[in-house]
Amino acid sequence: MNLKQKLIENNTLLLDGGFATTLESLGCSINSSLWSAEILKTNPDMIAQVHQLFSQAGADIILTNTYQAAYPSFRNAGFHSDEIDQFLKTAVNTARSSQTDSVLVASLGPYAAYLTDGSEYTGDYNVSDDVYLSYHKERIQTLINYGITDFVFEAVPNFDEIKALTETVIPYFKQYDLTFWLSCTVGNTGDLSDGTDFQKVCEYIADHPDEWSVFGINCSTIQGIEASLSKGMLDVPQYTALYPNGGKTYDAVTKTWSGKDQTDILFTHAAEWQEKGVNIIGGCCGILPKDIRTLADIIHQK
Ligand SMILES: [Zn+2]
Repeated sequence: MNLKQKLIENNTLLLDGGFATTLESLGCSINSSLWSAEILKTNPDMIAQVHQLFSQAGADIILTNTYQAAYPSFRNAGFHSDEIDQFLKTAVNTARSSQTDSVLVASLGPYAAYLTDGSEYTGDYNVSDDVYLSYHKERIQTLINYGITDFVFEAVPNFDEIKALTETVIPYFKQYDLTFWLSCTVGNTGDLSDGTDFQKVCEYIADHPDEWSVFGINCSTIQGIEASLSKGMLDVPQYTALYPNGGKTYDAVTKTWSGKDQTDILFTHAAEWQEKGVNIIGGCCGILPKDIRTLADIIHQK
């Protein structure tokens, strides 16, 4: 079943949680520029195990471990194209092998995921539409070749990149029948991480229903998400998705997390978001399979 069919048949879908966090909880060290993509190379069985844990916890949607797995990132680490093809194949196959009746969606990180200089969290970068296209198109094409039809651009912090995805990257693949979902990150005031007024982002997305089937926020605090809801986040014609992080802040220099864990308040907010009609709810960094199981009890009981 594809994502659109699954959304039509269910009021609320449960997404999985933090892939990298779960890998770390199983003892994996992911302190490299390739982040959790590193494990595609060193330990594919561990990737399969994480997918299985989220499946067993009740996730309706499983995301591939491909957020960081763009061709330029792997090339920077010294890999050749055919090796990168193989990593993406491993990512798709390990996710497929864990599926029960869940939907598989390919995760795509923003251009900033390649920079690994912290701009992933500030949205502070500026490149041309051609650069965005050449960064994104190779991975998408390979994933299409492996049978993927549903894609999510995640943690996008920059309005120019959102526009480039909408007006350049997605149209590039118009000969295929694909579904695209956009998740962006917001600061604690509810505006896009690069500072763009979130109302402006929502209006732009609302004007592009042919490009985007799902619009959401991920890897942001619950405080930030709540603020964005008052800026029109749920007024778009698209399906909506909210999957916050565990409340801690990432330090890109030391590659560590600090701050207060918010997992407990995620559960109360998840129930409220479901009441408000949010279509996809789950977790991002810091949210483990056990938390997804608790969310399953909340979301699937309705
Ligand atoms: Zn995250």
